[in-house]
Amino acid sequence: MELKGKKILITAGPTQEAIDPVRYISNHSSGKMGYAIAEALHNQGADVIVVSGPVSISTSIPSDKIELIRSADEMLAACRNYFSEIDVAIFAAAVADYKPAFVNSSKIKKESEPFTINLIPNPDIALEFSKVKTQQQVSIGFALETDDLIANGRKKLLKKKFNYIILNSPHESGSGFGYDTNQIKIMNCDGHLKDFQLKSKQEVAADIINECLVNSTLVE
Ligand code: C5P
Repeated sequence: MELKGKKILITAGPTQEAIDPVRYISNHSSGKMGYAIAEALHNQGADVIVVSGPVSISTSIPSDKIELIRSADEMLAACRNYFSEIDVAIFAAAVADYKPAFVNSSKIKKESEPFTINLIPNPDIALEFSKVKTQQQVSIGFALETDDLIANGRKKLLKKKFNYIILNSPHESGSGFGYDTNQIKIMNCDGHLKDFQLKSKQEVAADIINECLVNSTLVE
């Protein structure tokens, strides 16, 4: 695939799910992997749009190419605007699986009793894209699993109709959330796996782009 001029949506970073005006549920995603991919694509002439949760990253991507959101609902709403026009979607965000059923409008007071928060599932942005995705559109997902990485990765690829899924295990030292390095395997839609060495996230971004887009025969 020639990247120049291709419209590519990248989700990046964590989401924050509000409990009350000052508290939220989130995760340790730094956004580094998603931004590294977006920067590499932008540098190669692709027309990127990054829909990003709260991160502290300095980036060379122009600010009008970044839409900052907080919650999964906001991420889905922002992404939906691009679903019909993109050539490629790369779902690198660590979207919170659950959100509080109710958001308190004022700060919850501390009591001595135990406190329970009811959680309900968040929308799955990659799954929503899979429902409207055309044959020509390429979808790439990530899976970070503590157990059964390959079997669970395969399940996710099929369920969310990814063309490729990038597997990373938090067991590999230097790999995953927060680190500047990552060690990945790339699975294609036939279940074929390719292993990569521990590398900087910039090098990993280049591997993902080459394997899943540039040297892929999916879209010409
Ligand atoms: O969280 P999970 O392991 O299912 O994530 C697999 C893939 O789906 C990732 O690429 C992630 O960005 C995407 N995803 C999403 N919306 C969610 C959950 C995951 O787009 N609510």
